[in-house]
Amino acid sequence: MKSYCFYVLIWTMSAGLHCVSGQEKCLKPIVIIDPGHGGSDTGAIGTNGLKEKEVVMNIAKEIVRLNRALFNDSLEIYLTRYSDTLISLGDRTKLAKDLKADVFVSIHCNQAVRKAAQGIEVYVKQGDTRSEFLAEQFAFGLTEKLGFKNRGVKYANFQVLRETTICPAVLLELGFLSNLEEAQHYEKGHSLTGFALLILEMLIKFSKHV
Ligand SMILES: [Zn+2]
Repeated sequence: MKSYCFYVLIWTMSAGLHCVSGQEKCLKPIVIIDPGHGGSDTGAIGTNGLKEKEVVMNIAKEIVRLNRALFNDSLEIYLTRYSDTLISLGDRTKLAKDLKADVFVSIHCNQAVRKAAQGIEVYVKQGDTRSEFLAEQFAFGLTEKLGFKNRGVKYANFQVLRETTICPAVLLELGFLSNLEEAQHYEKGHSLTGFALLILEMLIKFSKHV
């Protein structure tokens, strides 16, 4: 955590408002955070009983909290769900379109039959250069700072990626709930805060260029 406190300060000072030339008003970048699953769809169940839908919801809410607490709400963040409800994939992408979002990030945890599988994967739609750039930033930044294995950027035709055409879109698979070590990582509040802070930092940095 210590190593990137410095960056938090720098980005807090420089993070900023997205000014449109010729307009008096500065617009904040609009970011959609999509906590995967919800309601009857639990997503992956950890070897320790943790539910993916709850882990990703907690990270999403922590991103919102830190945006306010550390960055003076420099991003305008909307979640696709704020409670334990199941939202259709179509409605998740529709939100990005309706709000004219600048970035869309779907958050998930992984699972595999092979219990030893570990690491972070970032999914993106093939051929979308800006999304690929953002995905590379996430894959490198999250794994380097948190010590997770980098499984790389992968292409997928997921609906939330395919249908989010208005802005760059990535889907994060933040570690494997089927792996005991990584599942236990999610039991700790400060681990969730670490993920949330890094995701937020990278979004702020990226948003200055969108
Ligand atoms: Zn998932």
